[in-house]
Amino acid sequence: MHSFDRRGKRLSWRILSYALRRMRTDPPLDHAEPVETLRRRAGVTVTPEGIGGDEALRIWQEVLAPACISVDHPRFFSYVPGAPSEAAGMFDVAISAANVYAGSWQEGAGAVFAENEALHWIAGLAGMPDGAGGVFVSGGTAGNLSALIAARWHWRHRGGGTHDRSRGIIVASRAAHSSVAQAARAMDADVVLVDTDGRGRMEGAATRAAIAALPEDDAARVFAVVATAGTTNVGIVDDLEGVGAAAREAGAWFHVDGAYGGAALCAPSRRGLFAGIEHADSFIVDPHKWLFAPFDSCALLYREPRIARAAHTQHAEYLDALHVNDDWNPSDYAHHLSRRPRGLPLWFSLATHGTRAYTEAVERTLAVTDAGAELIRRAPHVELILEPELSVLVFRRAGWTHEQYEEWSARVLAAGITFTVPTSWQGETCLRLCIVNPETTEADIALVLETLE
Ligand SMILES: *Cc1c(COP(=O)(O)O)cnc(C)c1O
Repeated sequence: MHSFDRRGKRLSWRILSYALRRMRTDPPLDHAEPVETLRRRAGVTVTPEGIGGDEALRIWQEVLAPACISVDHPRFFSYVPGAPSEAAGMFDVAISAANVYAGSWQEGAGAVFAENEALHWIAGLAGMPDGAGGVFVSGGTAGNLSALIAARWHWRHRGGGTHDRSRGIIVASRAAHSSVAQAARAMDADVVLVDTDGRGRMEGAATRAAIAALPEDDAARVFAVVATAGTTNVGIVDDLEGVGAAAREAGAWFHVDGAYGGAALCAPSRRGLFAGIEHADSFIVDPHKWLFAPFDSCALLYREPRIARAAHTQHAEYLDALHVNDDWNPSDYAHHLSRRPRGLPLWFSLATHGTRAYTEAVERTLAVTDAGAELIRRAPHVELILEPELSVLVFRRAGWTHEQYEEWSARVLAAGITFTVPTSWQGETCLRLCIVNPETTEADIALVLETLE
């Protein structure tokens, strides 16, 4: 790599030692600052002469990094946190150092081979057939969109022209992730929502009924049925067997969104929840959520990759050299072209530690979740709202208003105790802890519960 000037080498060492220090020391939780504060404290950073690497690194370390919440902090419980292994995180640094390109086999065969090994492990956990394959994309949002584009291509292709000018319909549950509705908007497709049971679970019977209730013209427009394997808000796995059967009966593509929960496929204690996932036409899981890889990474798998390839391959004079033979080109399997090898941090860490370490780490987070649920059941001031299926705890602080939850959340973040934002369940504001970090302990949850007294 070129370095613009002679100071480059020493700077590289300084950046690398900062990276190692950051990885090895437990980070404070930190929090955002107003833009005026950052502008004042960072000063002018982009100038014609440059401020120099030492100064840029100082500003990053002293001003900017502390204005980013540490996602790997054991009491980061909001949204879906992440907890990359050191092997995965440092290998990501190495990939960047070499600027590995992984869009095509021609340019990145070694990287693509290794990414495919990691995909193969995931496909095996899901029980997908041998021919299954896919690609790592930036996240669940990109994964869902790419899978649904493949599904629509398949529907239109099979229609032999009859559907080319009609809007498709995606059937999904009310608890499906917002990215499914966003994909529909991007694709100009419609969404038919299926009611869930009392826990937010999408059932086969309700899916069948929702499709049966459609007028005949609309039923013919259904091209995909989406089930969620681990809803983001409460961690419930849909009835994959039943929903998959309903999709097949409707002649529709069956997509399973396991962006968060799919990681639990490697946990024997929860594997039973996923029965039926082996019928998926496509499936996603985000290694940056619960599989200990850094941002940004989503594993997207197809039962029949050739369909995705037909839907997504880009054609241009300058790209024709990539398609002279049957090479596996990751660019062809999603809505993208240039790409970094987003699956390599997962692959390196898996290869290093073995799949058993993954099983143990996921089981540990599940055990801590169960222990946390028991703490909540025993504490007089909080009430568990749902029994956890995966690693999300949803509970209320008895008697609190929406404002009290918000005030508490800001206060404990400012105090560096926990990053836990309120959510809602059936219209009621409540609290939600999402546990994906193997370093999170029962004591961390107990500490949060104490602050709620
Ligand atoms: C997080 C999540 C997504 C979106 O994933 P991003 O990586 O944030 O784009 C989609 N579906 C589910 C179920 C999720 O939990």
